[in-house]
Amino acid sequence: MKKITIAIDGFASCGKSTMAKDLAREIGYIYIDSGAMYRAVTLYCIENGLFNGKEVNTAQLREEIKNIQITFTLDPETRRPRTQLNGKDVEERIRTMEVSSRVSIIAAIDFVRAALVEQQQAMGADKGIVMDGRDIGTTVFPNAELKIFVTASPEVRAERRYKELQEKGETADYEEILANVKERDHIDQTREVSPLRRADDALLLDNSHLTIDEQKQWLAEQYRKAIQA
Ligand code: C5P
Repeated sequence: MKKITIAIDGFASCGKSTMAKDLAREIGYIYIDSGAMYRAVTLYCIENGLFNGKEVNTAQLREEIKNIQITFTLDPETRRPRTQLNGKDVEERIRTMEVSSRVSIIAAIDFVRAALVEQQQAMGADKGIVMDGRDIGTTVFPNAELKIFVTASPEVRAERRYKELQEKGETADYEEILANVKERDHIDQTREVSPLRRADDALLLDNSHLTIDEQKQWLAEQYRKAIQA
């Protein structure tokens, strides 16, 4: 069967990863969470003292970026990918509020984006890939056969994120999460390099009022149409 490239972009915490992962698993495609890559670089900066408050030492990061290797392994139980930073599993650590509150700063740095986009393009060179992020349909794979742009209201997204953190047993504050979601949207949309925007040929999905199942069905239908085209 024809293999295609699927790009899923959208705002923070709008359920992109869940739908992208599930689709990839069902159709036997590779799934790449590009946000996890920006999060892993952010964790690296935190753990190696490259942050001073919200300021990052860009000169040092420019030196060290080539030593930051991000890979994914498949969890044998869940069959979901786990993020590795220089060979160490960081899947839980990259999802904390500490990382979420700094990741947009790292993602706005031009040489960080250049390095990660190059890796992402290499991962998708053979097609058969679902990648989610902010600039996949616009910059990473502008020729992707299927592009989706997902959105939902900030309140709905913060509520989902709040529940997710609570389920993991982490302390979560709804107002703090809502502020973080809005701040990330703002930085992502207004940065100079590859700002978050819908590609002209991306299909729009507002999932504020859709269940996960409804969303899955919608996506499966778009995939069927795309491979027949
Ligand atoms: O998708 P997720 O929310 O985990 O992404 C974390 C952050 O990484 C985003 O808020 C955004 O700043 C950045 N990002 C990006 N480009 C991508 C994926 C994520 O700038 N392709």
